[in-house]
Amino acid sequence: MALASIKPESIEQVDNVQLRVLVDKERNRVVYAEAGKDFVDVLFSFLTLPLGTIARLVAKDSNIEAVKFGSITSLHQSVSDLDQQYLWNQTCKEMLLRPRNSMEDYCHNLKLNIDDTEPVQYFLCKKLDCRKKSGCLLSIFKDQKCYCGEVMKLQAFRSCFNLEDGFVKENATFIICDDLYVMPNVFGASLQLLQKLGVDSVDAIEEQTVVINKKEVVDLLKLSLISKAPLTEFIFKNQSVGNYSNLRNNIEYLIRETPSDEDRQMSVKVTLRKSNEKILFVEADDDFIDFVFSLLTFPLGGVLQMLQGLSSLSCIDNLYKSLCDLSPDIYFTSHELKHKLTNPPIAAQYELSNQILPIVGASIPMNYCHRYYDYKNQRLVTELTKEMVYFNYNRLCDETFARLKLVDPKSSTSKSSFAKGPSMYMVTDDLFVSPMSSISTMAFLKKSKVPLSDLEERVVKIGVKEGLNILKASLISTSALTNGLNQFTRTVKDIQVSTSALSAPQDAVRSEFNFEALGIDNTQSLVVQLPEASSCTQDSQLPRAPLMEELPPPPNIQEPHMNIAKKENENTASSVPALRRSARKRKGGGQA
Ligand SMILES: [Zn+2]
Repeated sequence: MALASIKPESIEQVDNVQLRVLVDKERNRVVYAEAGKDFVDVLFSFLTLPLGTIARLVAKDSNIEAVKFGSITSLHQSVSDLDQQYLWNQTCKEMLLRPRNSMEDYCHNLKLNIDDTEPVQYFLCKKLDCRKKSGCLLSIFKDQKCYCGEVMKLQAFRSCFNLEDGFVKENATFIICDDLYVMPNVFGASLQLLQKLGVDSVDAIEEQTVVINKKEVVDLLKLSLISKAPLTEFIFKNQSVGNYSNLRNNIEYLIRETPSDEDRQMSVKVTLRKSNEKILFVEADDDFIDFVFSLLTFPLGGVLQMLQGLSSLSCIDNLYKSLCDLSPDIYFTSHELKHKLTNPPIAAQYELSNQILPIVGASIPMNYCHRYYDYKNQRLVTELTKEMVYFNYNRLCDETFARLKLVDPKSSTSKSSFAKGPSMYMVTDDLFVSPMSSISTMAFLKKSKVPLSDLEERVVKIGVKEGLNILKASLISTSALTNGLNQFTRTVKDIQVSTSALSAPQDAVRSEFNFEALGIDNTQSLVVQLPEASSCTQDSQLPRAPLMEELPPPPNIQEPHMNIAKKENENTASSVPALRRSARKRKGGGQA
């Protein structure tokens, strides 16, 4: 690992951002960093990234080795491995592997934008007949077909469209704590921070200027997921003070009480070990699989909003809380933008029609298309507009405005989904999804070395509460199902599984493990021979060793900035009152 490039003074390059850092030389740690718009916009842009994008970015080597992002990494890998026949089309696979950022217009002009997902493009049919009718199809994905059967290839552009300039105001400066809490840059805040950190003498602190490029932003993203002191680890690479296994501010997987919506529950069949209640896998239909897939499309900020600011990724929680605490009038370009950033939607057309979690999809505010000749630039322009607006062009060449209809690449039925049903799937504890196959299951059990007598099946209903629990656990644990569903598998202990209780199609695999009746009590005695190309080969790629199990209880969290932040913002009403409540709870020594 290379040291962060510490250079004396300003280097003006488009892809570099400067960060002034105060370090405590005695204790080899960062006291805080001071930065302007460029760097703070980069930090806040983390909250706009879909989980699938984060998994993809942190899987790459930067200056730091690849990092596993809870169970999201294995989920992302499973989509990559999944045969396309289980999804509606190749576009669905692309959507899950490279989910779009609903706030890409704000991130595009950032000096260090690490989201390399292709921006939205707009396509119409090349045939004039298709284009002039009301209900003219618009696609925001490539290779989609028009009613006429032609692939839509005519590229269109949004009218009067300008990219936004990041999130915070141009001249605003901030203090960034080692744990990514962002505060207004006032001396009082830094003094209190120094005092709280026990720094008594200014002789012990030293200023450094760090020049950061995109690769280092990826380092910071990785560290923000795995470290409690990402800035210190970033600056003092090899003298790491962090303990990666202690990264959680709260090893609590429970979420706040959520009203359950029984109409929208899905049944899954859970196979677990009786001896330790650990879930080996669940067997589920495409509805549950769609839900699991959709986690990849959730922006991190949207996840934090659903989890009320308590994701257990401590630095991300701090970053999100500071975003909520900062005054929109003083620091953000608009109230609307701050609101959007605290609750970023899923990108347009990525939402499921039967999503159980309370997250919305962005909309495309383009209702009409028309084509005209632009004399100034001497070319034909295909334009998308919100309203029917006529400009001072030569009307004779203009096409009329046609009302648009968006093409949904996810399925052609009334249900908008990624997974193609009816099919049964197996989801392992780390959210690795594969098509259900009893033979693959045997291979999996054999590998897990679980005596068959220790296996038990239970049916669990997945609604909002269970979904949020799985989501929360998936961020920090490679046992997302065990940790997310633990409390629910217990409450249904008495329920005996019957195949009819499931919504599985009748031709689903026989799922009761009646091996004892066959005189088999150990899968190790079974020989499973599989052809090379079978779906079982996926099992061999499963990352098996859970990283986060059986950790020591969390240390008390040091949040030296909390009181300061409160003081700084006494006059700023928080837009997320629930967050304040949860923060108070945390200070009061734990979570309900
Ligand atoms: Zn057409």
